[in-house]
Amino acid sequence: MIEKRQFFINGSWVDPQEGCDHPVIDPSTEEPCAVISLGGQADTDAAVAAAKAALPGWMATPVAERIAAVERLIEVYKTRGEDLAQAMSLEMGAPIDMARSQQVGAGTWHLKNFVRAAKGFDFEAPLGDHAPNDRIIHEAVGVAALITPWNWPMNQITLKVGAAAIAGCTMVLKPSEESPLDAIVFAEMMHEAGFPEGVFNLVNGDGAGVGSQLSAHPDVDMVSFTGSTRAGRLISKAAADTLKRVHLELGGKGANLIFADADDKAVKRGVLHMMNNTGQSCNAPSRMLVEASVYDKAVETAAEVAGKVTVGPASEEGRHIGPVVNAVQWGKIQDLIQKGIDEGARLVAGGPGRPEGFNKGFYVRPTVFADVTNDMTIAREEIFGPVLSIMKFDTEEEALAIANDTPYGLTNYVQSQDGARRNRLARQLRSGMVEMNGQGRAAGSPFGGMKMSGNGREGGTWGLTDFLEVKAVSGWATD
Ligand code: NAD
Repeated sequence: MIEKRQFFINGSWVDPQEGCDHPVIDPSTEEPCAVISLGGQADTDAAVAAAKAALPGWMATPVAERIAAVERLIEVYKTRGEDLAQAMSLEMGAPIDMARSQQVGAGTWHLKNFVRAAKGFDFEAPLGDHAPNDRIIHEAVGVAALITPWNWPMNQITLKVGAAAIAGCTMVLKPSEESPLDAIVFAEMMHEAGFPEGVFNLVNGDGAGVGSQLSAHPDVDMVSFTGSTRAGRLISKAAADTLKRVHLELGGKGANLIFADADDKAVKRGVLHMMNNTGQSCNAPSRMLVEASVYDKAVETAAEVAGKVTVGPASEEGRHIGPVVNAVQWGKIQDLIQKGIDEGARLVAGGPGRPEGFNKGFYVRPTVFADVTNDMTIAREEIFGPVLSIMKFDTEEEALAIANDTPYGLTNYVQSQDGARRNRLARQLRSGMVEMNGQGRAAGSPFGGMKMSGNGREGGTWGLTDFLEVKAVSGWATD
């Protein structure tokens, strides 16, 4: 059993002051695999105090040195990739090959993109030629609380820590209590990369404890949160009294608009994207909207592709999908699959219960529903499991209306060979991101949503500016 009860505060590993033990459950076996501590108010206060004390020094450190520290982190990251992959695979169930490539790879990608963005960013610049004595200074927001989810753990941690560090913020990270082990490896990496004491602190805890304590803390200047819309609301309320900045990256219910002129691989691509990470991605294309003339064929293809997706333990190498993260998630997904059936959707692949051959572990059958209507529960709620809903549309206007008829607005997808139509839809879809014809967004592209998907933007220049205040100065001496 792995025992990791300590927190990383002010450059050292310290025992909790108020910790209580919390088991980490391996979702592949349902057995405890590690024990951590959930901190209390005294631990939160100690971490925030360390970050506050380190703030003036880190803010005054030249940007080039802060960038150099992140570059050192990237070098350390490369040496600890396998440790990170093993930790994530064990605690949240990502199959080990996928953990090595996608889960670990995401971190290096984001850190490199921040370094590139920062090198091209004017942290201080004149207002314009018309005002030579006016200066715009971008400076750190201050002490940042970083609260992260379990589904893409290292992706989320690097998106926040990389940007905060370069911006000059000091920070307290509270990772998900479901996935604390990779965050502990990450804290070791921050130490090895030589960040000054107190710049980065880690306290484990749950949402009701350390999470809400950080959100309400008077010495925390901003909260950067990724997780559920439910918790985003609670954090906003807890933060309101101190009027701190709150950046939210929340859930999604992405539409994938497949027109009759889409390329041959569009349906297959959409299904596999949905199943990736066992459906546990905020930007999953979970509603597939298909033009009527190609609908029957698309349903057939989707069922066939989903039927070939294999499920297996996270420790096994290969291209299968793993279990979902925990018992609560498993139960919620089962209920929603049952709701889909009860509300009249047509089950064409998968269904309730564990896949054949499993009587233990939080495994879910890759599931596809056809003939879904947008008022059904499975079309409205974020399922966060390998469950795809397919709907039919007749016209572009109807497809757009269905896509936008959701409280969420994170990522939508368009598949069509008609460039004018693609661009038209990209403008009209109410989401922070639109991905078309299977082309992923490039390095440094901002990740974030609209509506109930949140208000933050992470990655590249936009990710940096989330952690920066804009200061306007007049009377600036130019000689
Ligand atoms: P969650 O909201 O349950 O937990 C996320 C984090 O918030 C955890 O660290 C948790 O301990 C903490 N937390 C929970 N309640 C809190 C509270 N009241 N105050 C402070 N902190 C609290 O979410 P999850 O189940 O870990 O993650 C899944 C959710 O995250 C999904 O809805 C998914 O769509 C979303 N997500 C969004 C993005 C994005 O960028 N938009 C990325 C990944 C995941």
